Amino acid sequence: MADEIKGRHKLIILGDGVAGLTAGVYAARADLAPLIITGYESGGQLMLTTLVENFPGFPDGVMGPELIERIRKQAEKFGASFLMTAAEKITGQEGSWRVHTPEGVYEAEAVIIATGASARMLGLEAEKEYMGRGISVCATCDGAFTRGKKVIVVGGGDSAMEDALFLTKFAEKVTIVHRRDQFRASKIMQKRVFDNPKIDIIWNHVVTDIKGDGTKVTHAVLRNTQTGEEQTVETDFVFYAIGHVPNTGFVKDLVKLDEQGYIITDKYQMTSQKGIFAAGDVQDPLWRQAVTAAGTGAAAAISAERYLAEREHTNA
Ligand code: NAP
Repeated sequence: MADEIKGRHKLIILGDGVAGLTAGVYAARADLAPLIITGYESGGQLMLTTLVENFPGFPDGVMGPELIERIRKQAEKFGASFLMTAAEKITGQEGSWRVHTPEGVYEAEAVIIATGASARMLGLEAEKEYMGRGISVCATCDGAFTRGKKVIVVGGGDSAMEDALFLTKFAEKVTIVHRRDQFRASKIMQKRVFDNPKIDIIWNHVVTDIKGDGTKVTHAVLRNTQTGEEQTVETDFVFYAIGHVPNTGFVKDLVKLDEQGYIITDKYQMTSQKGIFAAGDVQDPLWRQAVTAAGTGAAAAISAERYLAEREHTNA
């Protein structure tokens, strides 16, 4: 039944993170009744954060999941509908794009891809055995399990800083392992880390192996990037905060991607295929902020609305 056409829509939005939902608000308010296909990890990366301090309009901050819930309600209020399944590929041509899912095929005149990005892995063999049993990509999800434990956070960006600071609430000791001798994180986050007595930093090291006792992580092997020397350190948890990779595998043969796999869009958020737009982290290697994702979501929806209106006008 996977090939059966289950529905026809003017606009389908793939992804219900901040970009997809904002596109949903704009498109629904423009009477396009968009179908939002959410994927299985509904809500995107804001579901994995705690307090968002830099989204305009919230001087005291807003919890990531609450922000998502609010935008979702806003989209629903104007007539967006939601379907929890995953887009596996898009086929068809201009005017009738077909989104294939395990539930069947959904057809649309226009599509906005807002499938975001997923946590990057180190690619260690141990990830197969210990992911969820000491290795984690989500400090906010697993932080509470680290009470009184030793943890390592890998990375040098804002996420690593945020994770390390968050984990000090629970863990006995937090060590940031970074492959260079300086962080790329914003100065304010770096300062909070440097000022926190519970956080140690090991510069110029990478994690080359993670060892355990069969049920949980016990050690990490670190290699000095300058000398090549290896050391094994005791740790109960290793949190990855080494960036994200865009979720574009399902359209890699359809729309143009850059060398890192991000979708290339023009200033109207249009991809290399007419009527297919992209918004949010899936097309943004640079800013990757909640507010910029919301901004491109809005732009993609307005562009899609204009595109559809022009088509209607031409076909009338
Ligand atoms: P990021 O800025 O891309 O940082 C990734 C970090 O991981 C870098 O320090 C990088 O090292 C390191 N890394 C990458 N691959 C690695 C590997 N294979 N082994 C070891 N280390 C590796 O990612 P992010 O921290 O997730 O941030 C993404 C975006 O979200 C940024 O724009 C950031 O500002 C934003 N953000 C903002 C906040 C906030 O404002 N509170 C919070 C979280 C994220 P190098 O530095 O050597 O490249």
